[in-house]
Amino acid sequence: MALIGIDLGTTNSLCCVWRNGKCVLIPNSLGDYLTPSVVSADENGDILVGKTAKERLISHPGHTASSFKQFMGTGKVYILGKKRFHPEDLSSMILRRLKEDAETFLDEDITEAIISVPAYFNNNQRSMTKLAGELAGLRVERIINEPSAAAIAYQHATGNDGFYLVVDFGGGTLDISVVDIFENIVDIIAVAGDNHLGGDDIDNIIVDAFYELHPILNQKLSPSEKASVKKMAEQCKMNLTTSEQALMVYVYKGKRYELLLTNQILLDLCAPILAKIKLVLRRALKDSSRSVNEIDAVIAVGGSGKMPIVQSFLMQLTGKAPLCSIDPDKAVALGVGIVTGIKARDADIRDVVMTDICPFTLGIRVFNRFTNDKNEYSPIIERNTALPVSRERNYFTMHDLQTKVMIDIYQGESLSVVNNLLLGQLEISIPPAKAGEITISLRFSYDINGILEVDVRCEQTGDTEHVLILTNKNLSSAEITKRRQELQKLKTPPREQEENRYLLECGARLFEESTGQARMLIQQETILFTSVLENSGHPTELEKAKNRFAQIVKLLDEGDDKLFFGGAAE
Ligand code: ADP
Ligand code: MG
Repeated sequence: MALIGIDLGTTNSLCCVWRNGKCVLIPNSLGDYLTPSVVSADENGDILVGKTAKERLISHPGHTASSFKQFMGTGKVYILGKKRFHPEDLSSMILRRLKEDAETFLDEDITEAIISVPAYFNNNQRSMTKLAGELAGLRVERIINEPSAAAIAYQHATGNDGFYLVVDFGGGTLDISVVDIFENIVDIIAVAGDNHLGGDDIDNIIVDAFYELHPILNQKLSPSEKASVKKMAEQCKMNLTTSEQALMVYVYKGKRYELLLTNQILLDLCAPILAKIKLVLRRALKDSSRSVNEIDAVIAVGGSGKMPIVQSFLMQLTGKAPLCSIDPDKAVALGVGIVTGIKARDADIRDVVMTDICPFTLGIRVFNRFTNDKNEYSPIIERNTALPVSRERNYFTMHDLQTKVMIDIYQGESLSVVNNLLLGQLEISIPPAKAGEITISLRFSYDINGILEVDVRCEQTGDTEHVLILTNKNLSSAEITKRRQELQKLKTPPREQEENRYLLECGARLFEESTGQARMLIQQETILFTSVLENSGHPTELEKAKNRFAQIVKLLDEGDDKLFFGGAAE
């Protein structure tokens, strides 16, 4: 039975398998390797996933969810139509779809997977990823870090050991990691990131520039028209990856509104984004205690890592041209695929050992007598420390004659605990004495399984207290089975209808986006296509209708004026 590898992305997900000594990417039912991480519920409560669901972000925003990966383990609830879902349920629907694609591709049942997650994911988020796998009917053999996977993909392709700086710039997140690969040991030395910086922000910058030029559109357009402007901005950005200039055109009430972009203009517009990338890169290098000269290779990963302005900026910062011989979209998935090959004990590849780090800081709340701040954070285990780790620090009493010390344990990076996450509390009794005379010694031990042990000792009495904090929450197998059964009750359209369904959703979106003649055309064509789908059982007729509709969608998406006999699009 095959083991599949999955890059479960915030924006796009990919699936692969190790076959005949190499990693093979698995296409979905539309023939694409990238499946958008989007889920939508239709009028009948059926669940749509991937590109078809992505079309509905514009036409049915209240029934469609995207970018839910960042909220795994937070308890956030998404309401799609009448149904409520947690991020892990939505992730499980993506995983289920990838599993089905793999089963069709390989013509066998798949029950096991290796899934990659961002290196900064805490243990709760890792557990939730495993849970999403189980809800999809996949036993998650292993969770691996995305930057490790990308570095493994390059190491495998080139045979070069060394320090890799992995810059993963996706749709909504930036993760920069320093990964050391030496012989068969893959060490993450440091991770730094910005959870709110990605290609999406670049789209917004282009949209802002467009509205600045055409303020009337900003005032007049409806939310769904604005969503299609944003989509055009993204397309324009992607065109700039392959051409030096790109034209954005929006037709409103018969008038064309344009914005001409070049990479130089985009570079100027994106200066604030690039400044943020620089900050994250500096932090990653600083935490790794390596200078930029000690880095052997810079790897650009993630869709936004393909952008020429990003690549030249990385070159400027590091003095090295970022490697992108492996498609940045696919590098993580290919690395995960190589690890599945290792796991399956393929003789062609050598085993690897991956070590882990604690991606966040652990500490306690203290009183600072100089600033009078009762909520100051005192770190005990610093972020990016290799696991397992044990650290001790001493603290002193705050008040005269106090008989108890309450220890509040936090995870986070902020100087004020108010902004950090409270993990647990511990209390110890002490003998009354003058403030500062009693010493409390605290030991934090943290391991690969996400268990934090806190030991506290009063130096004067030798008394100790102890607490175990599980930073990951696990559901019982009965609860998992129940949730899986509930999710399995949700219907998805049959695989062979996916393409037609996708085209119809494109039609619905185009109807929302357009006005006048274009709108009339898409309406007529949708009626025609639907009636052939409903009434004709003849394969050639169905194929003809599908091709015709697909062609109309394509031309309308390209804003092709030829559709309207050479006139403007209204
Ligand atoms: P994630 O890892 O978050 O799932 P991806 O790595 O798939 O995300 O990146 C998605 C982002 O990459 C989107 O913002 C998309 O617009 C951008 N992107 C994809 N292809 C290109 C391209 N050719 N040029 C510029 N940006 C691109
Ligand atoms: Mg990614």
